[in-house]
Parts: sequence; C-alpha cells; structure tokens
Amino acid sequence: MKIHEFQGKELFADYKIPIQKQHVCTTVEQVGVAFDELTSPVVVKAQVLVGGRGKAGGIKFTKTREDAMAAADKILGMDIKGLTVEKLLVCEAVDIAKEIYVGFVNDRNTKSVMLMVSAEGGVEIEEVAKTNPEKIIKIPIDPLVGLPAHLARNVFFKVLNDGSQVRQAADILVKLYKLYVEKDCSLAEINPLVITDDNKVIALDSKINFDDNALFRHPEYEAMADYTDDEKLEVEATERGLSYVKLDGEIGCMVNGAGLAMATMDMINLYGGTPANFLDIGGSSNPQKVIHAMEYLLNDKNVKAVLINIFGGITRCDDVAKGLLEAFKQMKVTIPVVIRLSGTNEKEGRELLKDSKELISADSMADAARKVIEAAKNV
Ligand code: GDP
Ligand code: MN
Repeated sequence: MKIHEFQGKELFADYKIPIQKQHVCTTVEQVGVAFDELTSPVVVKAQVLVGGRGKAGGIKFTKTREDAMAAADKILGMDIKGLTVEKLLVCEAVDIAKEIYVGFVNDRNTKSVMLMVSAEGGVEIEEVAKTNPEKIIKIPIDPLVGLPAHLARNVFFKVLNDGSQVRQAADILVKLYKLYVEKDCSLAEINPLVITDDNKVIALDSKINFDDNALFRHPEYEAMADYTDDEKLEVEATERGLSYVKLDGEIGCMVNGAGLAMATMDMINLYGGTPANFLDIGGSSNPQKVIHAMEYLLNDKNVKAVLINIFGGITRCDDVAKGLLEAFKQMKVTIPVVIRLSGTNEKEGRELLKDSKELISADSMADAARKVIEAAKNV
C-alpha cells in the first residue's frame, strides 16, 4: 500500500525527522490561505501516488500569493502518469546546497532490509541506478543488530564531508529505520534528503509503501488509503476470498490456484492471446465465489471471452461443475466461456457440463487456450 508524500511526512514528524512546514490543500483558495501562514517562498506540490512529479510539472516554486494560487490552479486536476491531482501540499521552500538519496527496501536476495544511500540524490536517481549503479551504496541490515548510529555515520562519511551534516543525516537514518520496522514498510525513501544553505539536513520528499501482508496489524492505515478504481476492485475481491489483479488483455481467466493461474496466463500468451486478469478463486466449489469472480470478468469491458481452468485436487471436479452450473443459472453471460476440467473426478465433472449451452468444453490447457482465443475473435 502506497501513501502520499504529505502522509509520509506526517509519519516523519512523529519520528522527529525534520521536514518543512506544510499544509495540505484541495482548492486554490486554501493554497492562498496556506501561503499567508507560511514564510515565502513556498513550493506547491501535486500529491499523486507516482514518482517524477517534478519532471511532469507537478511541482512549482512560488514567491507571491498570486503565483502560488496560479500554480495551484494549474496543478489541480492535472494528469500525471494517468492519475488526476486532487490534493496539493504547500511547503515552506528551503535553499538547497546538496541533495542526497536515502532509502530502505525489503531485499529478497539478502533476505533483509537493504539500506541504499547515494550522493547523487534528486530527480535523476533512476538514471543513476541505471547508468552508474556503483554510485548507490547498498548495505544489508542485520535484523538482530538493526541500524546503530555508528553504522549510519560510517555510511554518510562516504557521501558528506562535514561532521555536523554527517551527524544530522545519521540521526535521520536511524529514525527512518525505526519507522520502517515499526510501521511494517516494504519501502521508505527520502529523495532528496537535502543539506540546506544553513547546514541543516531536512527530508524534502517522502515515499513510503506499507507491506500489504502486514496491513492486518495496522487497522489505522485504512483511513490513509487512496486507491485507484482498479485497486478498489482488487481490495474488494480479497475480502470475498479471491485474488484478483486486473490487466489490459481480452481473455478473462478464472482459475483455482495461483500457480495454475500463472500457467494459464502463460498459455494464453503462448497461443497469441492477452490475459485480462489474474484471478485465483482458491480451492472451493462455492457457487457464490464463482458468481463474484464472473462479475469482475464481465464488468471489464475489454474481456471478449472467458477461460475457466480448474485442476481438481482435493476439490473434486464434479463439485466444481455443480458450482459452475448453479452459478450460471443465476447469471446472464453473453460472451463465450471455455472450460477445462482436469484431475479428481474429471469425467464426472465433464459429464455434468456436457449439456450446458453456456460452456465450451476443452480437453487440455492448450486446447482451452486455442478455443478461447478463437472464440474471442468471433465476438
Ligand atoms: P518528485 O519529483 O516527485 O521526486 O518530487 P520532489 O519532492 O523530490 O521534488 C523534486 C525536486 O524539486 C527536488 O529534487 C528539488 O530539486 C526540487 N524542490 C522541491 N522542494 C524544493 C524546495 O523547497 N526548495 C528548492 N530549492 N527546490 C525544491
Ligand atoms: Mn523525490
């Protein structure tokens, strides 16, 4: 789960990481009021859940009330990488002497939290990561040791050459690590962490992702969530016991088991089709689950045909077939549906589906992929 810059900075403030004075606004008038309450100049910043706002024109430096309001007028409603700007953050601007990058991320290779620091912070960090990866210092953090201050200071002695700056930056890093662990983050970045002209170290931006697997431990995060429409569907699906991820293809997939769902998507691609989604309905034959799952597929305007791919292990194919028949009795399905049943009691299952008008039966995964792609062409 991603949160906005202003929310990340509120967390920073809780952990005593220095930030600029800030106001969150949703209208041009509020930006005028915010300007009056802050010391000029101020920065007006789009709050959207993607990076690169600066380059997209979503960040404006302003010196007068009129300029700030004009910037707000321009940025509100702006489209940044497909997201509409609905909120602004107005911050007291600082004079920047140096921008550095710091971040923590869950690293699968080392099975630990990875600390990343670079002297080349700012809007070009992605470019640095691509062309000069050696300029990003990476240190895996031993979970039993954590991040002691001396380790943090050692890192910053490599990128800063002033004792006071090193101490301030190290203090921030130790607090950021504490936040990262206590708040169950999967990513916590400050880019840029700036050294100001008067030698202060301040977090100028924040990027925080919470680990979705830990959300149950933090019911308070619910109020911070700002989901896109597609993400809302995915969250609702999770509550209904389905794993659903929307994609942009034409073939809707409904599968029991995550591995089989991945294999099904591969198979569709192999035969020249494009999957519209990942959808794992889990190991039950409950007709209600099938109905819910079909709703997601049918509500997606891109879906031209559906492939149901079931492998009966503990779940028996005849049970699944009964569930499907029951579900299709209750729904109006107007697009072709191909079904492949395999595994425990597959013969009985197919026998049950034999007379169904809605379902096109397939013998194998390859056969099913070919049939569903063909059917989609004729819609
Ligand atoms: P991003 O583009 O989404 O990463 O947004 P940031 O908050 O990181 O801002 C992008 C860039 O705008 C920063 O790297 C700074 O160079 C500049 N910037 C942001 N806030 C200030 C500020 O208060 N003062 C100055 N001088 N520059 C700022
Ligand atoms: Mn940034």
